[in-house]
Amino acid sequence: MTSFISKGHLDFLSDKQKAELSKHIQASATAMPHQLAVRLGIEYPKALAILTLLEAEGLCELQLLIYHNCEPDIPKGAIPFGKGFPDLPWVCPSCESRVEDYNELSFDIMAHFTQKVKFI
Ligand SMILES: [Zn+2]
Repeated sequence: MTSFISKGHLDFLSDKQKAELSKHIQASATAMPHQLAVRLGIEYPKALAILTLLEAEGLCELQLLIYHNCEPDIPKGAIPFGKGFPDLPWVCPSCESRVEDYNELSFDIMAHFTQKVKFI
């Protein structure tokens, strides 16, 4: 178990929220900002800021998940977050259509944790 001392970065979270965040990461090893926002009762941008911070600390890797409108609930691809959006045309691996327009795609962010983290 790695203990992560937040050194002031996560001071806007209460002890209860830090415990919830630790539990979530230890249980699933992944986190999406909208999940954290709901679980911690914070706003989406704050949840994204937390994940960005944890990536900067080397605790997780962020990916941009790519969804195609052929099956909007299932990610069809992923690229490292911070590289911008996928190049067009983008070929959906599922329905094999050539996507020329970002309007056919939607995106979400997922953090993959490489270590067990406990926030204190
Ligand atoms: Zn598709």
